[in-house]
Amino acid sequence: MAQVSLKGIEKVYGNGFKAVHGVDLDIHDGEFMVFVGPSGCAKSTLLRMVAGLESISGGELRIGGTVVNNLAPKQRGIAMVFQNYALYPHMKVYDNLAFGLKLAGTPKAEVDARVRDAARLLEMDHLLERYPKQLSGGQAQRVAVGRAIVKKPGVFLFDEPLSNLDAKLRANMRVRLTELHRTLREQGRASTAVYVTHDQVEAMTMGERICVLKDGTIQQVDVPTALYSRP
Ligand code: ADP
Ligand code: ADP
Repeated sequence: MAQVSLKGIEKVYGNGFKAVHGVDLDIHDGEFMVFVGPSGCAKSTLLRMVAGLESISGGELRIGGTVVNNLAPKQRGIAMVFQNYALYPHMKVYDNLAFGLKLAGTPKAEVDARVRDAARLLEMDHLLERYPKQLSGGQAQRVAVGRAIVKKPGVFLFDEPLSNLDAKLRANMRVRLTELHRTLREQGRASTAVYVTHDQVEAMTMGERICVLKDGTIQQVDVPTALYSRP
């Protein structure tokens, strides 16, 4: 069964502009799927519809088998990582990671276990007592990913998460995120990822499958080697 299933998905914005034209796609359990394409091809519109941040104009969206068209983001079992890390500046890293869980009434011991687990996975145990302004860009991005991990979502959604980093850090984070995904999967944990980027290198190196979008339709879906060896 597909973990995320899009059937005839359409988006018409309030001004009448049709941004997405009947997209069909099955994303498998544990798969790392990348949406790639130029600015305006509707990558972020699609991701935001999966996240529940944008209404769906037509078609059926399922996550884990459940139709989620009309479910709020919190009810979808997803966690999203944004380009601007959106950390709380007045909270230490530990509390940035713990905040959402505490708000949801998670018991303190469970919160602590999840925060320490995420910190270990992202190699940032030594950063837990720092404030966001004491972090480098790459460290702040790791905290943002950590905030998604502690939620134990069924699906991770990434919206151009590396775009604000310099080239060297971006290369480093590509490797880290790929390794993180594999580690979670090897541990039998939920690891399905949908990753949006306009960067072809990112798509090529990170995607297990790549969905190439153009003007709100799918041009191709395939593994990287097959996509880029075509004439
Ligand atoms: P990107 O940098 O990803 O290409 P865009 O420039 O396409 O982003 O759009 C940035 C944001 O501006 C969109 O997420 C949307 O909310 C808004 N926007 C873009 N195009 C329009 C439009 N034609 N009408 C109204 N809002 C728009
Ligand atoms: P991408 O993420 O690939 O850059 P978007 O999903 O942001 O593309 O936008 C896809 C298309 O929808 C673009 O043509 C954009 O101008 C348009 N669009 C985005 N947001 C809005 C909006 N709020 N209202 C109208 N058109 C929009």
